[in-house]
Amino acid sequence: MKQCISCKEPGEISLRALEVRTLPIRDLGGERKVQALGGFVDGAVCEKCARKQLALELDPLQSNRRSNIGFAIVFVMGILILILTYTLLKGQWVYAALGAAAIICGVLGLYDNIRSGIRRKKELSSLPEKKALYQAAWSVFVQNSPSKDEDADLSYIPIDEDTLRRKNGDLMILYKLLPAIAVEAYNKIHQKDL
Ligand SMILES: [Zn+2]
Repeated sequence: MKQCISCKEPGEISLRALEVRTLPIRDLGGERKVQALGGFVDGAVCEKCARKQLALELDPLQSNRRSNIGFAIVFVMGILILILTYTLLKGQWVYAALGAAAIICGVLGLYDNIRSGIRRKKELSSLPEKKALYQAAWSVFVQNSPSKDEDADLSYIPIDEDTLRRKNGDLMILYKLLPAIAVEAYNKIHQKDL
């Protein structure tokens, strides 16, 4: 049995991924990207790590914890700036506007995070347990896989029954592939020697 990518214990859940390498290029015409497929990557995640991840993703407040803390800090800073403006700075509007902007930014950020957390929770709760665990294991796998190789960004397409059912247009949208790369990925995923 392969070892868990996160804790190195035996990993019961096997995963296979197709690596995608994306190179963002900035030139006079703006930003464009060059993309290529990498190879297949095999990994495993243990049930314990998958369950931990699943519990995390089922809690809308915890699932974006770091980002939530960031927005909460921005929110508190906004309030502090407003208090300072009205006490020490005698209501100078520039600072008041800055404080108000920070408060709005904090609230909108938190709202958006919690909304996406709730959506993820609904999505996972509607799945059979085995599938939800697989999804959580996939999150653990992606979090522990390299996201960069020199200048290229690395991303991963899960090779599972859901992906095998998708058309190349779906792959293109889901995994942000260029049209030609989506076709190539489709062919590679459906190779018989897989
Ligand atoms: Zn583990």
